[in-house]
Amino acid sequence: MFVPDEIYYEKAIKSYELGISLLKKYENIPKTIIDNHNNIESLRSKPNTEFINLKKKLIIGVRKTHRYEPNQKVSDFLVPYTSSGCTASCLYCYLVCHYNKCSYLRIFVNREQMLDKIIKKANESTDKSMVFEIGSNSDLVLENTITNNLVWTIQNFSKSKHGFLTFPTKFDMVEPILDLPRN
Ligand code: SF4
Repeated sequence: MFVPDEIYYEKAIKSYELGISLLKKYENIPKTIIDNHNNIESLRSKPNTEFINLKKKLIIGVRKTHRYEPNQKVSDFLVPYTSSGCTASCLYCYLVCHYNKCSYLRIFVNREQMLDKIIKKANESTDKSMVFEIGSNSDLVLENTITNNLVWTIQNFSKSKHGFLTFPTKFDMVEPILDLPRN
């Protein structure tokens, strides 16, 4: 089980239920308040040799960018969702190429806002059911072991009349989601 050695968080997370519960869950872990999860200079300026140590940090913030990328492969859209990066260190990972040493796990606590937007978009399409890829920035099965976000997402999205969600994973901690009603 992942236990961070340090947490960096934006003050705004205290306005969200998930933010409050994560601060409580990790109350004994050292914490630093940051202005912006996107630009933590003290971490960005570390040498690449610090990569593995950086993976032990957990960053918690509010996602401000909600731009959907059209996608013609497994979905209609790639959707920025509840996390970026992850706690593993697979050397072939494309996220590492994107984020380099800043590929540590960032969790975004405004999940209600993000899921509401997906449901609204899904219900705009009357001629076909749209597919939303929510796991292109992270591995949500891994993230779920920290936040329970995947369970929460499936439970809430299953109430939507339209649309599908998809997410790839390489992890096997899938028991919490197997028996959920998914519709
Ligand atoms: S678990 Fe997935 S997202 Fe994380 S480093 Fe490995 S390949 Fe990348």
